[in-house]
Amino acid sequence: MCAVPIPVLKSMVIQPSFAGKKSQVIREVYYENAQKTLFLCKERFWEKQGIRGGSSFTDGVIEVVSYPQDYNRSITKGKGNALHDKRGVLLASYNIGEDAYALGNISPFIQREIIKREIEKVHGLTEGYLDNIVIDSKTIDWVREPWFFGAFQMFLPGQKKDFLYSTFKPEYDNRVFFAGEHTSVKNAWMQGALQSGMAAANDVAYYSMIHKYQR
Ligand SMILES: Cc1cc2nc3c(=O)[nH]c(=O)nc-3n(C[C@H](O)[C@H](O)[C@H](O)COP(=O)(O)OP(=O)(O)OC[C@H]3O[C@@H](n4cnc5c(N)ncnc54)[C@H](O)[C@@H]3O)c2cc1C
Repeated sequence: MCAVPIPVLKSMVIQPSFAGKKSQVIREVYYENAQKTLFLCKERFWEKQGIRGGSSFTDGVIEVVSYPQDYNRSITKGKGNALHDKRGVLLASYNIGEDAYALGNISPFIQREIIKREIEKVHGLTEGYLDNIVIDSKTIDWVREPWFFGAFQMFLPGQKKDFLYSTFKPEYDNRVFFAGEHTSVKNAWMQGALQSGMAAANDVAYYSMIHKYQR
């Protein structure tokens, strides 16, 4: 059962090679990139501005800022706004496509500076305010992650019709099966990944019986 993302499959030596169409899919299918940067903040400046959970959608390269939900939990436990001055983790930037490449291709230090300046603008803070607030950061740039080399499959126009069947078609005389979001009509979603797993399990059961009675 092969459920690794296609960019990973592309980096593997496959001998003997898969069928021509499958090899074409592995070579040509497009994967989108995504990038997330988390900031560990020594105080929750957003909660002081009345923001409790949810996200800000911006026109900037950071695209989306998402706020932790634990404020709401502290309210329901009767702690009021006790978290204002506590540390909090902010999803400071969540972007896909061109913006993910733009941020991902610059050095971590400059990347962090750009994100801080954009967040200051979004929140109406003075320039440099976050220099003293952000203690640490962590970035995931999916195209650079060795177990993924991309965020999710994004068929280019016409590719779904041309390639989808070949993404899940078994290889080596129905002995190698394929699953994962990239083999599903609902590619790029968890639902697609789950459905593809169930479909592949059914295929394995079916072809196991066929092979058994062919012996
Ligand atoms: C930033 C981001 C946000 C998303 N948001 C949503 C969302 O809000 N809702 C939603 O439904 N979906 C979302 N998705 C999509 C969803 O995460 C995927 O569709 C789903 O996780 C795909 O599952 P999968 O099993 O096909 O692949 P993956 O979850 O990518 O699993 C592939 C596995 O293969 C492993 N692997 C790689 N190489 C090897 C190797 N050489 N040997 C062994 N194992 C290997 C990897 O470690 C990984 O565990 C998002 C994806 C990203 C990247």
